Amino acid sequence: MLQMSAAHLQQICDHAQRTYPEECCGLLLGHLEPATERKKLVEVWETLNAWEVAEKEAIASFSAASGQRYSKADRYRIDPRDLLEAQRYGRDRQLNIIGIYHSHPDHPAVPSECDRAIAWSSYSYLIVAVDQGRAIDYCSWSLDDRHQFQSEALVSLDPASPQNLKSKI
Ligand SMILES: [Zn+2]
Repeated sequence: MLQMSAAHLQQICDHAQRTYPEECCGLLLGHLEPATERKKLVEVWETLNAWEVAEKEAIASFSAASGQRYSKADRYRIDPRDLLEAQRYGRDRQLNIIGIYHSHPDHPAVPSECDRAIAWSSYSYLIVAVDQGRAIDYCSWSLDDRHQFQSEALVSLDPASPQNLKSKI
């Protein structure tokens, strides 16, 4: 379960619309309750999509292996330096990286095989579907024991509307 405010969701959807037709990406900083595996989002950390850097550095083994060319329209990569900076920022504030968000321009909010291949088991993966430049859907995913994505509940942190966030868009 991922708890977040409507303002956080809005910030992520705005980011996704701004970078269209390319994928946006960023980090979710917050708290993880180990006993319940409940995650609480405190801050949205926008990053640049560093996919082209990855291709230049020839570390995009997934695209190389499949023989296909990908671009920022259908791939994202977070620069390790951005990860490090966010970790450092979070350490001073008792915040952890609890997940990653990215957008799917003109594709559903469903993880791709590449998303699954690079996913970490303790993170939430929030995906925003952007259709013709407008964020139209979103869904959060986390890995199960067999490294398969399962959708997870998105719950509002706003006291006035504690219900599931799914009806917001
Ligand atoms: Zn994706």
